[in-house]
Amino acid sequence: MKRRLPEVQAVLADLDRQQLRRSRRTADPQLVDFSSNDYLGLAKHPEIAAAMGECAASRGAGSGASHLVTGHGVEHSRLEDDLAAFLGRQRALLFSTGYMANLGVMAALADRSDTVLLDKLCHASLIDGGLLSGARFRRYAHVDAAAAESAMTDTVSVVATDGLFSMDGDVGPLRDLSATCSRHEAWLVVDDAHGIGVLGRHGRGTVEHFGLGADEVPVLVGTLGKALGVFGAFVAGSADLIELLMQKARTYIYTTALPQPVAAAARRALEISDREVWRRERVLSLSARFRDGARQAGLPLMDTELVTPIQPVLLGSAEAALRAQLKLMSEGFGVVAIRPPTVPSGKARLRVSLSASHTEAQVDSLVAALGRAV
Ligand SMILES: *Cc1c(COP(=O)(O)O)cnc(C)c1O
Repeated sequence: MKRRLPEVQAVLADLDRQQLRRSRRTADPQLVDFSSNDYLGLAKHPEIAAAMGECAASRGAGSGASHLVTGHGVEHSRLEDDLAAFLGRQRALLFSTGYMANLGVMAALADRSDTVLLDKLCHASLIDGGLLSGARFRRYAHVDAAAAESAMTDTVSVVATDGLFSMDGDVGPLRDLSATCSRHEAWLVVDDAHGIGVLGRHGRGTVEHFGLGADEVPVLVGTLGKALGVFGAFVAGSADLIELLMQKARTYIYTTALPQPVAAAARRALEISDREVWRRERVLSLSARFRDGARQAGLPLMDTELVTPIQPVLLGSAEAALRAQLKLMSEGFGVVAIRPPTVPSGKARLRVSLSASHTEAQVDSLVAALGRAV
């Protein structure tokens, strides 16, 4: 449909009618934030902010050009080395955002003669990357490895899934997916934006949680703006894969390099997350505490085997979710309603996320407030 002004107004009115219009609020420092992805409590860490400031003072705020022109700096290079070492991969490549990393990866690994196979609930950026590649699409039922296996064909070049799913708090069946991919010679792309820094014995993410390595998960996408609390993203993998992305990923090539101060801050965040193991332990113990409390209060939690910092409370209608959000806000809690199209219709929810910076008392009061709001 051609969108002249009356059609634009009709689209907006329609969103209002369905309670699906999105709006922004300036973050209110008075609210206790239970919606961020700052799982390790690093986003406001003074040492990380200082690393950013020092780097900006010496190297400047902007990188001035794309990586392949003159924008690639020593801090980018060091961060890529640190990420590759942290994740046990040959190389890593920085992207400005996770959204761009997924677009770049999907379009570099698939083309119009291929098929891509995606989890039904995978992140929008993997879907958009698949669209950009021009490949045919197949989707399999959420976290259902058997469904993925039966949807597999020899034209499938990429199977893509989130590691830890951000709206559901469950994890992709990586072990079975990797077996399917090796049988059919397809790339397994795991977007572990939410798992890295949090899951696995050493915080290496969902791949480590399953005891898998570079052979089983050859393409690992991660972000620097979630558990690591900064901004940016990367792809980690073999030297050949990274070289291919540098040559072919348009979202890597045709864009200004991430500012070096951001890379310097991310390096410091990676180092702190690795050293301060208590952050990971704390966010997981607070998550377990929330879950126990919420269960006792009879709240409609989603069923997940694993305890993760993502604890959605399923409310169904967009209206109910919005109402609960407002009620919680009036009690001092920032918990955001997630509505379609981010989640399937009829599956609106409050996405509660825990952080190492929360206290036990805050978690307990949130449970009590949810009991009143839901
Ligand atoms: C947030 C997110 C992204 C996008 O990362 P940005 O760096 O915020 O662009 C990609 N994939 C998943 C699963 C995410 O949750």
